[in-house]
Amino acid sequence: MENSSRRVAIKIAVTVVLLAGVYFFVAEKIRRPIEIDGGYREVMGTLARIVVVAKHERQARRCIETGFGELVRIDKMMSDYKPDSELSKVNREAFANPVKVSPELFEILQKSVEFSRLSNGAFDVTVGPLVDLWHKAGEANVVPDENTLAAAKARVGFEKLILDANERTVQFAVKGMRLDLGGIAKGYAVDKAVGAMRREGAIGGMVCASGDIRCFGKPADKDTWRVGLQNPVAANQPASNGAIGAEQVLMVLKVNDMAVSTSGDYRRFVAIGRKRYSHIIDTSTATGASKLSSDTILAANAVDTDALSTAVNVMGAQKGLALVESLAGVEAILITAGPEYQVVKSSGADTYLQ
Ligand code: ADP
Ligand code: MG
Repeated sequence: MENSSRRVAIKIAVTVVLLAGVYFFVAEKIRRPIEIDGGYREVMGTLARIVVVAKHERQARRCIETGFGELVRIDKMMSDYKPDSELSKVNREAFANPVKVSPELFEILQKSVEFSRLSNGAFDVTVGPLVDLWHKAGEANVVPDENTLAAAKARVGFEKLILDANERTVQFAVKGMRLDLGGIAKGYAVDKAVGAMRREGAIGGMVCASGDIRCFGKPADKDTWRVGLQNPVAANQPASNGAIGAEQVLMVLKVNDMAVSTSGDYRRFVAIGRKRYSHIIDTSTATGASKLSSDTILAANAVDTDALSTAVNVMGAQKGLALVESLAGVEAILITAGPEYQVVKSSGADTYLQ
């Protein structure tokens, strides 16, 4: 009698434990992921924002810190403002001797040269001397003369950058060359942040560094991430008839597992007298790019969209679009220079528009 009641008690206990196990297993499986907005932080001379989707809050917070940590790490390596960055060391020493660099810096320089070739030199990380020159011209409020422009131009050109993949070294063929990764490093850093967040267990997320954004997975309560395209007209002068209107957000892109980069002359430029010069330099003319008001590129990686958005900004609608159409998985939305501000889209861009 006692034995059988003990057996019943054991059976009940085992059943309870099993049910509890099944309950926790199912609860864990069906638990809705949590989405946390890490907000904005100042990194890479701009504002960066990270949103993450993870299983629980503690993990989400860890992913946010990991993501921002990567942005800071890449900035320390690739900033041309910071004298102790690896890039600054290369800029100081690479004419005198080949400089051995980290695998990451070498990788981004190889990517840069790849995009220079692809864009026929429209994208060029050796643009440093011209960026400097126009920066100083803006401060002095005087347009540089022909000779000064020609002297700076002689120190620019990706074909003068010598990369040795075996030794992992960088060397400059001409004295006074200077690398400027401003057109590609943010995208590279965004990709690195996404990679690190995924390794930390993020199911989804969005990393933005100014105009460079990459999304992965899905938001917690929607099917796609939404990326608003800022209207350059709203930030510039009023549009003329027939052009796009002046609302702040021009269109909304719906994306999953994609990167989106925008380059434009409306946020950062050099003003001399009443004229604005884009901070993006057309190295063929040695002056600010002026063919497009803004251009947005969509592709799988942010390093690609960042470099391509800078390249296409220099190339203009016709050549830029031809380049985009020649690349698989790349789309573009361009806005021509004012006063026309015409929207031009690549053949597959509508897939991402509402
Ligand atoms: P943003 O930095 O505003 O997001 P971009 O990605 O287009 O815009 O990068 C512009 C920056 O790239 C410039 O500030 C400069 O540092 C650098 N740059 C300028 N002209 C070129 C060019 N032709 N090729 C590559 N980088 C460039
Ligand atoms: Mg860029």
